[in-house]
Amino acid sequence: MKIKTGLRVCIDAEALERIWQWTELAKGEFSCLAMADDGLLVHGVQLFDQTCTQASTELDQDALAKFLCRHREPENVRAWIHSHGNLSVFWSAQDDACIDGLANESFLISIVVNKRHDIRCRVDFFQPVRLTLDEVPLEVRMPATDLKAECESAFLKHVTEVQPMVVRQQSMMPEPGGMRRVRNWPDFDDDDMAMWGGR
Ligand SMILES: [Zn+2]
Repeated sequence: MKIKTGLRVCIDAEALERIWQWTELAKGEFSCLAMADDGLLVHGVQLFDQTCTQASTELDQDALAKFLCRHREPENVRAWIHSHGNLSVFWSAQDDACIDGLANESFLISIVVNKRHDIRCRVDFFQPVRLTLDEVPLEVRMPATDLKAECESAFLKHVTEVQPMVVRQQSMMPEPGGMRRVRNWPDFDDDDMAMWGGR
C-alpha cells in the first residue's frame, strides 16, 4: 500500500546522523533500534549486540531481550532501522520476518537505508488489524532551539529597513511639437485618452 498524502514519519537530525555514521562504518548490513513517540517521531537511536554479514543482519533474540531489559522506556522502542550497505533499499523476506518478530501492541516504524543515503520507511500496525503502510515520507526534525530573542536582538542591531521607493508608472506619450512630457499614471487625463483613441 502506497501513501499519497497525510501520514509521515519524522526522525530527529541527531538520530539520522548516527545512522549515517554507522552505515559508513559497516561493511554490509547492520541494525539498530530507536524510540518512536505517538506522533511518529523517531529518536534515541541505539545499537545492540549483533552479528552481521555483507547481506544480512540477524536479530539475536537474546541480545534484543537484553537491550529491551536495560532500556529505560522499552515500551517506546518502536522503530527498527537497518542498512543494506551497497544494495538498494527494499524489504526482503527476512526483513518482513524481522518486523513480525518485533510486533507490539501499537505500531512499528521500519527504516531501511544504504550507503547512497537512500531511505525507505514503512509503518506496521499489528492491532486491531494487521496493516503495512509502505513508502511513508520521512522528514528530518531539526533540534528545537529557541533562537527567537537572540535573532531579534541581532536583527535590530544590524539591519536598517527603509521604506521601499514607489516607482510610478509613467506616460511616455510625446507631446505635440516633439517634446515629451513625463506624466504620472494618476494624471493620465481625457486628452491622453483621446490620443490613445479612446473617448
Ligand atoms: Zn533488509
